[in-house]
Amino acid sequence: MDYRYTPEQEAFRQGFSSWVDKNLPEGFDPTKRRNFNTSEDLLAAYKAFQKRLYEAGYTALHYPKEYGGQGKTMVEEAIVTQTISEKCMELRQIGVITFGMAVPTIYTCGTEEQKQEYLPKIMDGTHLWCQGFSEPEAGSDIANVSTMAIKEGDHYVVNGQKVWTSMAHMADYCILLVRTDPETTKHRGLSYLLLDIKSPGVDVRPMKQMTGESEFTEVFMDNVKVPVENLVGKEGEGWMIAITTLMFERVLGDVTMATAYEKTIKNLISMAQNVKRSGRPVIENPLFRQKLAQHYIEIMVLKYHGLRNFGKTIKGGVPGPEGSIGKLLWSEPNQRITNNAIMMQGPLGQITEGSPWAIDEGAWQYGFLRSKGNTIEAGSSEIQRNIIGERVLGLPKDASRAAIKK
Ligand SMILES: Cc1cc2nc3c(=O)[nH]c(=O)nc-3n(C[C@H](O)[C@H](O)[C@H](O)COP(=O)(O)OP(=O)(O)OC[C@H]3O[C@@H](n4cnc5c(N)ncnc54)[C@H](O)[C@@H]3O)c2cc1C
Repeated sequence: MDYRYTPEQEAFRQGFSSWVDKNLPEGFDPTKRRNFNTSEDLLAAYKAFQKRLYEAGYTALHYPKEYGGQGKTMVEEAIVTQTISEKCMELRQIGVITFGMAVPTIYTCGTEEQKQEYLPKIMDGTHLWCQGFSEPEAGSDIANVSTMAIKEGDHYVVNGQKVWTSMAHMADYCILLVRTDPETTKHRGLSYLLLDIKSPGVDVRPMKQMTGESEFTEVFMDNVKVPVENLVGKEGEGWMIAITTLMFERVLGDVTMATAYEKTIKNLISMAQNVKRSGRPVIENPLFRQKLAQHYIEIMVLKYHGLRNFGKTIKGGVPGPEGSIGKLLWSEPNQRITNNAIMMQGPLGQITEGSPWAIDEGAWQYGFLRSKGNTIEAGSSEIQRNIIGERVLGLPKDASRAAIKK
């Protein structure tokens, strides 16, 4: 299969690339890790940029026009996403759950009313979404969800707690996994709701991460009323819809992450050219040169795996469990890349953002700490390997959870 763009697609790429250069927020520096000091500033910049993308016809290109899309193909959408990953990932990153999970789930499983109501307001940047699946007792074992939603007349009354909910403090809505039937077996008692996160009874508490940032939160729900028309699919179908959502989340990484990490490797090479150890540039050290080559190989594997899986998704519509391979191919190499960046810096590797001695303003130290979450978020590495074992290779089912619980 030839993965090069056709002349028309290349012209589209070039047109969009120069559009981005002209439409970035004033003073935005694509070489900096962080252009916004507060989550409020970042959210405002995200919404304004998303609105500009929408008005210029560059958002959700493969969705139909009646839902705020452009009625084009997924190839144009991939070109837009890759270009954004390369030039201004910071501006799009907070929209990853919105576009990678909420949009495809509402589009694939939602009612006509839900599509009309929610999709256009996502496309034009009005609403940001978050994902409320994980709970203190339900992470890898998501079927353990215990947040209860009891139907009372024309609404559900929701009580419970979510945890690690990324960006809930910035979001307008939440895709929420709840238990509607405590009597049936774990999977079958789950349902999938669309929650207005500003509803009375919702308490969002940001949590501090080891990077010093508060990217994720705890969400407490105390007698929160959710209209019955916000149920996605039928009551009790939440498990299958959640699996669909997670598969979209995983395939999303493949095509865009490779672009982002190609840029990271270029930055790493540039850092290795500038930083000296024992009076010589690190790039001359044979050990680090070997590692740089290995990082590049791993990112190329991710890129071509992503393209192959993307090609399959274009033909089949819904991504398959092979997305788990892509998740491992970006999360684990990113930990090796950032670890190596710190090693290259020698004693200066301990100096973080804020010090005049920090190399590249401490971006590598931040990346090193943040990368630890990569092998946990969106399903841990062990869970991805279980999925590949069972659903791709056809191995016997993982019995460890059952054994632990006995
Ligand atoms: C940065 C970040 C952002 C996140 N954002 C969100 C979000 O927006 N929304 C959301 O709902 N969740 C979010 N999460 C939560 C994430 O999905 C969970 O942390 C993850 O699914 C693991 O669940 P857990 O933390 O409960 O760990 P556990 O499930 O308790 O796992 C603990 C350890 O046991 C291993 N393990 C568990 N079961 C098995 C098994 N069967 N076989 C082998 N090993 C096993 C795991 O791999 C892990 O190493 C986020 C997490 C992080 C780190």
